[in-house]
Amino acid sequence: MPDRTRIIVIGGGIVGCSVLYSLAKLGWTDSVLIEKRNLTSGSTWHAAGNCTFFGHYPSITRLFVNSVNSYLQAESESSQSIDFHSTGSLRLATNKAELAFYHCLKPLYDQLGVSYEVVSPTTVSERFPILSTEGVLGAAHTPGDGHVDAFGATHALAKSAKLRGAEILLNHEVRNLELTRSGYWVVRTEDGDIAAEHVVVATSFWARELVQSLGLNVPVFALEHHEIVTDKVDSLQEVDFELPSIRDPYVPCNIRQEGNGLLCGIYESQPVPWATEGIPPEFAEDLLPTNISILESHMEKLVKRIPVFEQLGIKTVFNGPICYTPDGLPLLGPVNQFPGLWLATGFAIGIGTGGGSGEYLANWIVNGHPPYDLPYVHPSRFSNDLSKDDAIDMIIETYARGYSIDEI
Ligand SMILES: Cc1cc2nc3c(=O)[nH]c(=O)nc-3n(C[C@H](O)[C@H](O)[C@H](O)COP(=O)(O)OP(=O)(O)OC[C@H]3O[C@@H](n4cnc5c(N)ncnc54)[C@H](O)[C@@H]3O)c2cc1C
Repeated sequence: MPDRTRIIVIGGGIVGCSVLYSLAKLGWTDSVLIEKRNLTSGSTWHAAGNCTFFGHYPSITRLFVNSVNSYLQAESESSQSIDFHSTGSLRLATNKAELAFYHCLKPLYDQLGVSYEVVSPTTVSERFPILSTEGVLGAAHTPGDGHVDAFGATHALAKSAKLRGAEILLNHEVRNLELTRSGYWVVRTEDGDIAAEHVVVATSFWARELVQSLGLNVPVFALEHHEIVTDKVDSLQEVDFELPSIRDPYVPCNIRQEGNGLLCGIYESQPVPWATEGIPPEFAEDLLPTNISILESHMEKLVKRIPVFEQLGIKTVFNGPICYTPDGLPLLGPVNQFPGLWLATGFAIGIGTGGGSGEYLANWIVNGHPPYDLPYVHPSRFSNDLSKDDAIDMIIETYARGYSIDEI
């Protein structure tokens, strides 16, 4: 273990590995990533890997698009497959406000050079033949996106960073951070200390406890999030293309093809916060007990949306902790009170935005200014005085909104 380096990234999920990779691409290879278990041990290993290009703001869309591009680049450099399925996505409109909003986004996507169109219910049926379009007014179609293998993408980023000279320390837990009088950070691990000019905290829902001793009150908490994987859908045998991902504000859920079956991620209307008193120390690569009763009303809606769902066997239902901030957007940027301290945490859509976010932050660190304007994700948007109860209430409300558009 080195005793000094230029920059330390804490956390080996997709976000931390992406920051490390992007720093290395910019020439900062005097860098060390410290992970307390293994790469992807947190939420990354069980993520569905959906990478939509649909964002409410053009700059967020840039994060999405740059993510897939960076995973593909890392794949070609490392030969580690990311298994990108370029299926495209359809985000359904179930009321006039949603449809109008999707139309308004068109010129913004054109400016970014990202393919985007608003399609009719008939087109939705053609692209996703097992879906009932009852109540669907149209959809936003982003043909360039799809899904990746989150484990593969993280390892591709890590391997490419290492090929460029960055170092990764596994099975080292960071105990705390300290800013010395000389302006250096000391990162204390159970196996010794490392000094660095910069520290990036990319530890998802563990970030809150890690920076608490600095007097920082970071509003990130975990919620339970269920996914359902079905058995084979026989009627898909007649479809000679992979279905696009669906995002449906009605259930609300996302649905994509998984082999010959379906994978559905549910946004529970009664969200359940997890481990708000502190993440259990033994938690790693774990799932949470499933709570089928909470899914019942969503399953009924799912059957209305995908009628064949009623006859399908369920292969697995799983429940994993997902990190949220009060507005559902990550905390990405400097901590104003502490020079050299950066946050890359609070990611609810970390596979979709992780690659682009790592690139954004690395450019800011190396060049001293952000590569483009992205005020929506600056860590300073939440007051340090925000109470824990208020933060959790806001997180629950944001999560329960699912894909409804008007409140974000
Ligand atoms: C069921 C489910 C499905 C999902 N599907 C999708 C999807 O389809 N698309 C999408 O974009 N997102 C999805 N997500 C969300 C996605 O999984 C997360 O946004 C993403 O994995 C977050 O990545 P991360 O790197 O921020 O955090 P993590 O992957 O949780 O990584 C944080 C790392 O920090 C390490 N760490 C913590 N504390 C310390 C310490 N003190 N010292 C050293 N290391 C430490 C942990 O061990 C962990 O490896 C899903 C989430 C769930 C629960």
